[in-house]
Amino acid sequence: MPSHRLSAVLAAVLAAAAGAAPLQPDTAKNCRSCTEWNQPQKPFLLYGKSWYVGTAGLSAVLVDSGDGLVLLDGALPESAPLIAANIAALGFRLEQIKYIAVSHAHYDHVGGVAALARASRATVIASRRSAEALAAGVPPKDDPQIDFGAEANAFPKVGHAKVLADGETLRLGTLALTAHYTPGHTPGATTWSWQDCADGKCLNLVYADSLNAVSDDVYRFGGADGNGGIAASFRASIARVAALPCDVLVPVHPGFADFAGKLAQRAQGVTPDPFIDATACRRYAEAASKKLDARLSEERAAPKR
Ligand SMILES: [Zn+2]
Repeated sequence: MPSHRLSAVLAAVLAAAAGAAPLQPDTAKNCRSCTEWNQPQKPFLLYGKSWYVGTAGLSAVLVDSGDGLVLLDGALPESAPLIAANIAALGFRLEQIKYIAVSHAHYDHVGGVAALARASRATVIASRRSAEALAAGVPPKDDPQIDFGAEANAFPKVGHAKVLADGETLRLGTLALTAHYTPGHTPGATTWSWQDCADGKCLNLVYADSLNAVSDDVYRFGGADGNGGIAASFRASIARVAALPCDVLVPVHPGFADFAGKLAQRAQGVTPDPFIDATACRRYAEAASKKLDARLSEERAAPKR
């Protein structure tokens, strides 16, 4: 056997011994926007040791804790190889990922999580309601988009996700990653926050879940939830994101915070860094609040919706 062939075999054996498995993507979702969302995006630094590793239309974030990596979200099933390639381009190996945190259990954000978790052996962490949905491979019955149907909504199942309680913090190396339950877009929607530092300056990063009041044709955001009402709970989530200490906002869709525009500004050498904006979370929440108001008045105008 030639020596380069031998070293390739040896590398594979060592990788297997280290617990690594090659990435085996699940079946592509192929939804209406999937091709557009899944365009490749070169990874880029957000701040400190936090990088954007998602696609052009679906966010994923990698954080180096100094004692292993944490990945946030996995986008579509067909995004997993792109995310893995971005992680490799940054010089990391998939098996360095210790945890994969998820935002909300819709196929465009958790579709790639199963494959990435298999390849990395990482522990998936999620809110209680998201963990239940991950295990089922479909959103729960009270999801605003449930009427689109099981086939349209399905994603590869992820069993045994570790539940983080609302406000609970995961600690790994220098990283303290906190889960904030922000239900509304889905019952299990979760926003994550952490601090990262560069040159002695520490900033607050927020991976903000969707606060978009979008649904199938049956669901009503003005409906009851056995508590104070769906809208009241949604408004509380919006207020919560608005109030978070927030210097760098990463929404689950990069377009929600004009990442393409910010990257173009960065390429032109614009200072201060366009990704650092202490008003971003508040403005993101304000836009969501207006959208919810508009949606509720639509529902009132068409009560049989
Ligand atoms: Zn969604």
